[in-house]
Amino acid sequence: MGVFDHPEFDHHDSIHYFDDPATGLKAIVAIHSTALGPAAGGCRRWTYASDDAALTDALRLSRGMTYKNAVAGLPFGGGKSVILASERAPRSQALFEAFGRAIDSLQGRYITAEDVGISVDDMRIVRGETPFVSGLPQSGAGAGGDPSPWTALGVFRGIEAAVAARLGKDSLAGVSVAVQGVGHVGVYLCRLLNDAGARLVVADVDRDSLRRLGDELPVEVVSPRDVLFSDVDVLAPCALGNVLNSETIPQIRATVVAGAANNQLASSRDGERLAERGVLYAPDYVINAGGVISVAREYLGNSTEDEVRREVGRIPERLQQIFADAASTGQPTNVIADELARRIVAQGSNGSIANRPTADRRIA
Ligand code: NAD
Repeated sequence: MGVFDHPEFDHHDSIHYFDDPATGLKAIVAIHSTALGPAAGGCRRWTYASDDAALTDALRLSRGMTYKNAVAGLPFGGGKSVILASERAPRSQALFEAFGRAIDSLQGRYITAEDVGISVDDMRIVRGETPFVSGLPQSGAGAGGDPSPWTALGVFRGIEAAVAARLGKDSLAGVSVAVQGVGHVGVYLCRLLNDAGARLVVADVDRDSLRRLGDELPVEVVSPRDVLFSDVDVLAPCALGNVLNSETIPQIRATVVAGAANNQLASSRDGERLAERGVLYAPDYVINAGGVISVAREYLGNSTEDEVRREVGRIPERLQQIFADAASTGQPTNVIADELARRIVAQGSNGSIANRPTADRRIA
């Protein structure tokens, strides 16, 4: 299949392939849209079954970033990069330097940050080669650093909004939440949920992460597969995408699905399937925008942590509007969110968005 015919192509602005034989780096950068500003979105390092699977992931994730940045009101377009992990390309300083040079060659059309499989330390190495990177620790009260706590905060506030809308509860005390994946975001989310009095059911493929969490918080551990079908109020997918599909949805018992993972729906039709079953789905790129809000404000260099906190605090309002529009139109929440995002991008394409950062902006 040609790239232009790829089902996830969706008129991407550009797709870039990088191959560095010296380090084994193989990476794809997908730039979906620059209508609202330079494409911003994290880098994922993952072992893919094939190059095509890596391309599919990059394309889906980068379109999601266009929508996420638009709905979050950020002056950025959408892009994403993936590094194909393999034994021939072990994690090394040289590999991330090569990746940094690759990003630099795009001259600011794409700005990278951490995603799954990438740490703050990796991004520090990338920063040595290019200014077009964010998600690095800042000194003082300036916004920035690891985006995961901000993502978790936005998801937590989004869960509160979804629980209020679906269950009519104004507190999470006694509400049960199943968290699939207790990595960077999942752990922070569990802490916030526990503090709010929620009952936690958790799963991860990494036993060490589960053990550490179990030492800290009262959690019920279930298998990675069973967690999706737990008898709980809320399911919070915080691992990888495509977990909501025609096979899993009929077995889901939670009445709210609200989590951090990107691309939770295997297809748009799965949003309809959830709605048909009476499950309230918080669109992933709306609820998980906390991290990119922090990363964007860090990159622009014009915000404090308090301002980021306030901006993340607007995520529940956006969800409430989407839930209300879904209820009044009978459309699934994912369709309402996609329409909203496309409207915002179309406005930007018409040049009505002021104060776009220029692509050649350099961070100090
Ligand atoms: P992470 O890699 O730190 O954590 C993911 C966790 O999921 C890991 O502990 C991993 O072992 C676990 N996992 C993998 N497969 C699993 C499975 N089948 N069942 C159960 N657990 C499984 O990643 P993260 O940064 O916490 O991100 C989690 C999700 O949230 C990803 O989809 C990511 O794209 C999305 N997201 C993250 C951020 C952020 O700020 N980090 C922002 C927006 C979206």
